[in-house]
This record gives sequence, structure tokens and C-alpha cells, in this order.
Amino acid sequence: MENIKEIYGSLVFGDKVMQERLPKDVYKAVRETAQNGTHLSLDVANTVAAAMKEWALEKGATHFTHWFQPMTGLTAEKHDSFIYPSGSGEMLLEFSGKELVKGEPDASSFPSGGLRATFEARGYTAWDPSSPAFIKDGTLYIPTAFCSYGGEALDKKTPLLRSMDALSESAVKVLGLLGKKEVKRVNTTIGSEQEYFLIDKEKYLKRKDLVMCGRTLIGAAAPKGQEMADHYFGVLKPKVADFMHELDKELWNLGVPVKTKHNEVAPGQHELAPVFETANVAVDHNQLTMEIMKKVADRCGYACLLHEKPFDGINGSGKHNNWSISTNTGENLLDPGKSPQDNKQFLVFLMAVIAAVDDYADLLRLSVATAGNDHRLGANEAPPAVISVFVGDELAAVLKSIEEGTKYDGGSAAKMSWAHVLPHIMQDTTDRNRTSPFAFTGNKFEFRMPGSSLSVAQPNIALNTAVAEELDRIYEKLKGVAEDKLDAAIDDLLKEMLKDHKKIIFNGNGYSDEWLEEAEKRGLYNLKAVPDAMPELLSEKNRNLFKKHEVLSDVELESRYEIFLENYNKEIHIESLTLQEMIRKDFTQGLVAYMKDVTSEALKKKELLPGISVSYESDIINILDETSEMIGNRIHQLRDDTERAEKIEDVLEAAKYYHDVILSDMDGLRECVDKAEKIIPDAYLPYPTYGQLLFSLR
Ligand code: ADP
Ligand code: MG
Repeated sequence: MENIKEIYGSLVFGDKVMQERLPKDVYKAVRETAQNGTHLSLDVANTVAAAMKEWALEKGATHFTHWFQPMTGLTAEKHDSFIYPSGSGEMLLEFSGKELVKGEPDASSFPSGGLRATFEARGYTAWDPSSPAFIKDGTLYIPTAFCSYGGEALDKKTPLLRSMDALSESAVKVLGLLGKKEVKRVNTTIGSEQEYFLIDKEKYLKRKDLVMCGRTLIGAAAPKGQEMADHYFGVLKPKVADFMHELDKELWNLGVPVKTKHNEVAPGQHELAPVFETANVAVDHNQLTMEIMKKVADRCGYACLLHEKPFDGINGSGKHNNWSISTNTGENLLDPGKSPQDNKQFLVFLMAVIAAVDDYADLLRLSVATAGNDHRLGANEAPPAVISVFVGDELAAVLKSIEEGTKYDGGSAAKMSWAHVLPHIMQDTTDRNRTSPFAFTGNKFEFRMPGSSLSVAQPNIALNTAVAEELDRIYEKLKGVAEDKLDAAIDDLLKEMLKDHKKIIFNGNGYSDEWLEEAEKRGLYNLKAVPDAMPELLSEKNRNLFKKHEVLSDVELESRYEIFLENYNKEIHIESLTLQEMIRKDFTQGLVAYMKDVTSEALKKKELLPGISVSYESDIINILDETSEMIGNRIHQLRDDTERAEKIEDVLEAAKYYHDVILSDMDGLRECVDKAEKIIPDAYLPYPTYGQLLFSLR
């Protein structure tokens, strides 16, 4: 067993290494940048680059790469070695401040949403000193932001950093009003719980749908699913435990603070959660986590599925985004303390978040809208597509007293009656609510809508900017108020805001039909699928928000709209083609072979014993014959409709068509295939069935 303390962060050019290897003033400058987002000079960069190179070479690295997050949702990298020919036949090892700070990848093959014509292929990557460099597979990885020749963001990091700055600026102003003048910076903190599936690698490789699309497009349900609730928190299978241990180790080496691991609800489903970090680092670390999960899984003989809905009929995977804001002086602004009712600062920030979620529910919804996540939201396994805020019993009572102008006398925590021998535990002031998309959980909010494969940058860009805006509005209302009148003014403001925004607060069961009706009455958004949600990105309200806080310009926003919709269309297009191919080439092979065998067996039986009944065999043949005719018709329909979809030029029109026509064609086709699959023996199918995929892990 390794010593965690020794391996943790051993491949990271982190605080400890920098303190040891950088001159004091340079170290201070880098730290200031990492913590407070200040700018770094080239002089400092040169010194850092030299130290980084020495450290990386000692660790056996031969290359460096600018690591960035283009709009593909994945990360990108191009490796350069440290070598320079010296002219006298020798090799020098060089790495300058300029190389650290700026890279120039050809940007032409990354999604740009029309931002950059391919003949203007130049793009830049710029070092993000607030996220530590690290070594992976012999290469020094430098986290960078990625933009076009004209300086427009082509990635997820740039707007995230901008949104963190926006939130900090607005929060610092409000804190100043509240008497906290010493606060200079406020940081967003994130802990993202990551769900995933593990399946046997050999089986995975036999399924075109999993390999091409990440999810099964056909597959009859196994006799058993998740109904016994025997997987959630169940004993880890030995090989799975080995995988998790390997994963922990690799991530600890890279300084990713992974903490919790357990089995999830569905068979083969698991979860990993890290300790929270500053948003920017947490996003980088989540990208790394997803990548390393796949790599370690492969090494252990598994395939790791990060798709939001790999299997029909059992839970899909999400990524809970735990979010809070804390000051450079170490205070969590969403910590209610012992008596939230008297904690004005907490109430102001709480209300800013509630107002932000209410005013920008559409943005939050679309920040997690992807083809994969559409299968989860609203399917009674994940929050509904309607956004609401859960605050819990105690805060609900506090808010009620604010609204009614009455005094809240504080709830008293009850001691639970358990068994004598057990430790005495005080009851939490509120229970959990698993059905809420946006829940207050003690000293942070948990946004539960993001899908498992999503970059968490996206929801946090929306959330940070929206909260910045609400804090600005609060600041405007309070800034002229005399100090002795401030308390009363805050009370009035909170009351007014609560009146405006209480429609977003819902503490009941988010899965119920009554809630959907109620939400409609309250006038809340119910943006069910990507083509419903995405147009909201370009509304006047949202354009103004991003422009005002300098997070995304109009052109940047428009390019994102194009990219998100294009991705949606392409994903479903690939699914359609894969489904057609898998049915024609794989499923049909099994179907025909089985029909042939059953028929010839029946004929043989008849020949041998002329009077015998072959009703069982006939039954099978009849069902298969009937469904295969339907499959034939429906696959033609899907092929023709997909060809039609290819010809639609407008991205939104195409997205609507993919949603309304192609997805429903695919569903209809799947229904027939699954019906047939239920009676075809596994041995006839050239791909593994649900039962084999989900219940074969050891
Ligand atoms: P639960 O089990 O109730 O969801 P945990 O305390 O286990 O809550 O936390 C879940 C995630 O929330 C973890 O990743 C944790 O690090 C993160 N978290 C805790 N506090 C904060 C915070 N102040 N800001 C952001 N994330 C946080
Ligand atoms: Mg949680």
C-alpha cells in the first residue's frame, strides 16, 4: 500500500514545488495570480518556465504540451519535445517563458461555430497560471485557454475564468457595503460528483452502438434491473475495488483530491467524488478524472461509460455540481452559521443565488442541454427539466418570517431516538431532497442537472454570471444607504426579492406530475429538450447578461449556439447510422439464423413424428416474422428520414427534425428489435445482451 502523503501531487508543479524551486518574489507573484487572478509578467514567466523544465526533466518528461478545452467537450493537446539542436551536433534542452505563456495550435479543425473561416486558421493558447501544470505519460501538461486569431474564446476555460472574475467583482462590492472591506477576492468553489458505468471490455468492443455512440441503441431489458436496490452502496466487487484503487492512485499523483467512491443505483454503476476546489482547477481536474477513468478502466479490462444514458430502463449517470463562493479571507459565503435568521450577509448571498436561478433558469437549463442528457432529465431518475430551488425546512421557515415580517425563533435540532448503545446524533435541520435540480445542502448549493460527460465549466459559467448580476442589482439598491439604516434596508430588500422570486422555491417532490402542473401555473420554464432550450441562449436578456459582465460577446455567444446545436445534430445523426448498421449487419444475422434453425427443426420433427405439434416453433416463427417485417419498414423510414435531415441547412430546424422525427423513428425501430431480441437466444446474436453487459462484472 502506498503512502498517500508521498504520492499525492507528486506529478504536479504545485505550491510545494514552486516554493522550493522559485525565488521568493517569483513564487509570491505566481501565488497571487493563482489566488486572486492577477496578471503575470513575462519576466516571471521566464523564471517559472526554467524551473518547470528542470523539474519536468528530473521527473523523466521529454515533452511539453499546451492542454486546452475546445468546444468538443474533450481536452486537446499537441506535444513538443524540449530539444533544440545546438548547431555543433549536440542537443540542448530548452523551454522559455514565451513557450510557457503562448502556443499557436492550428485552430481550423476545432468547432468554432462560424467564428473563424478555415483560411484564418491561426489560434492561440495562453497559459492559465491559476491551474497547476502536471506530468502525464512523460509530458509536461500546461493548462491553457484557447482563443481565435481575433481573440474570441474558442474554449470553455476562457468564459469560466471571466465569469469567476465577474462574480468576484460583484461580491467584493457587496461585501464592502456589508462592512467586509478587507475582502479582495471571492472564488467559486466546486466539488463535482462523477457517476459512471463499468462493463467488460471484450463485451463493449462487440457493440457498435457503445463504441460509436457511448450508449446502447437496441437491447431488450434483462429479467433483472435495479429494482432490488442491491447495488447502491453495495459491497465493491474485488476487481472493481482494484480498479477504483488504481484510479485513486493515478488521480492522487496528479493532485486531484478524490475522496469518496461507492456503487450507485444501477448495476455496473459507480460514483466518485473529490474534495471541492476553486472552480477553474475543479473543472480541469474533472476533465482529467474522466480521462483517467477511461484509461485505468481499459487497463483493468473494463470499458468506462460516461454517457448520460447508456442503458434503457435503468438509471443514467449525472454529475452533481456542488457550488459555493468563498472569500480570500477563508469565509464560505453560503455558510448560514448557527442562526441564519440573524446572518444578514448569508441571507443576502442566499437571496442573490435564488434570484439568479429564477431570472436565469433558462440559461442554467440550457447549460446542461445535450443529446445525452435529454434522455435523463424528467425521466424520474434525475431532476425534471423544470428548474426550481430547494432550501429545506429551516431556511424555508426563515424566509417565510422575512416575507411576513415576523420573528423566527429558530428551530431546535431534535435528538434522534435510536438505540441506547449508539452514539447520540442530532437531527439535521433539514432532510435531503433528491428530486430537486438545485438544492441547498447545508453550506453550498448542489446543481443536479449536469450530465455525466459534460464539462462542468458550462453550468458554472452560467451560474457565476447570473449571481454576479443579482449581486450588482443588490449593490445598486443598497449603495447609497446610510450605515445606521442599512439593516432595515436589507430587510426590506430581502422581502421584496423574496416576493419576486419565491416562485422558484419548491421543497416538494420534483418527480411528481402535480409539480409540473404547478410549475406551469407559476410560469416557470419547462424546456424539455435541446431544440427547446438552445434558442434561449440568444435572447436579449441573456445576451445582455453575458455582454455586461464581459463573459461572452455577441459573436462568441452566437458561435456557441451554433456549436451546441451542431453537436446535437451530429450526435443523433451518428446514432441513426449506427442503429441502421447494427440492425442490418449484426441483429439480422442472429434473427435469420435463428428463424432458419427453428424452421428446420420443426420440419425435421414433423418428418420424424408426423402427428406431433409444432405450435411452439410456429409461435416463435410467427412473432419473428411479424416483427422482422416491421423492422424492414421502419429501417427504410429511418434511412429516408435521415437523408432528409442531412439536407436541412438551418441548425435549429435540423435539430427540431432530429428530435421530432429521427429520435422517434429510432424509438419505434428499437421497440421491434427488442421484442424480437427477447426470444432470440443469446448465442445467435453477435453482440452481448443487456443481461451479459450488466451482470457479468466480477
Ligand atoms: P453530500 O454527500 O451531501 O452530497 P458531501 O459533503 O459529501 O455532501 O459533498 C459532496 C461534494 O460537495 C463533495 O465533492 C464536496 O467536496 C463538495 N463540497 C463541500 N463543500 C463545498 C463547498 N463549500 N463548495 C463546493 N463544493 C463543496
Ligand atoms: Mg451529493
